[in-house]
Amino acid sequence: MDNCIFCKIANGEIPSATVYEDDDFRAILDIAPAHKGHTIILPKTHAANLFELPDDIAGKLLPVAKKVAAALKEELGCDGINILQNNGTAAGQTVFHLHVHVVPRFDGDGILPVWPQGSYAEGEAAALAQKIQAKMK
Ligand code: 5GP
Ligand code: ZN
Repeated sequence: MDNCIFCKIANGEIPSATVYEDDDFRAILDIAPAHKGHTIILPKTHAANLFELPDDIAGKLLPVAKKVAAALKEELGCDGINILQNNGTAAGQTVFHLHVHVVPRFDGDGILPVWPQGSYAEGEAAALAQKIQAKMK
């Protein structure tokens, strides 16, 4: 993708505060961190979102997130870590090159919204689960 800023950052054409790099990924400090140390992991090949991400890259992504999370915890002494990945504007995605956020959290920081706790009517969850399951066959 010629015009994708995260392609350019991931491949080193634009400098970044890199915390980790391997053949497939570059992990960098987010320019507008929720907390200092907030890291985003960028695949080196372009995929706009999770739906476009090849399975082999997807399979390597969580181990990298784990590695980054462990390093952040050790360096920052944070109390928790969120791993977040937004797909689509409705979900808060603003840069359309897939990336995974690794966000250090501190007790009581309240920096991320907590979603509402909804509920299902009797039998509704089972019926919906079956419909979703059918889409994966
Ligand atoms: P999204 O909302 O798409 O999940 O997250 C995009 C993230 O990328 C935001 O947290 C934003 O601060 C970060 N970001 C956007 N442009 C740049 C950039 O040029 N450099 C870095 N390091 N982070 C960026
Ligand atoms: Zn890209």
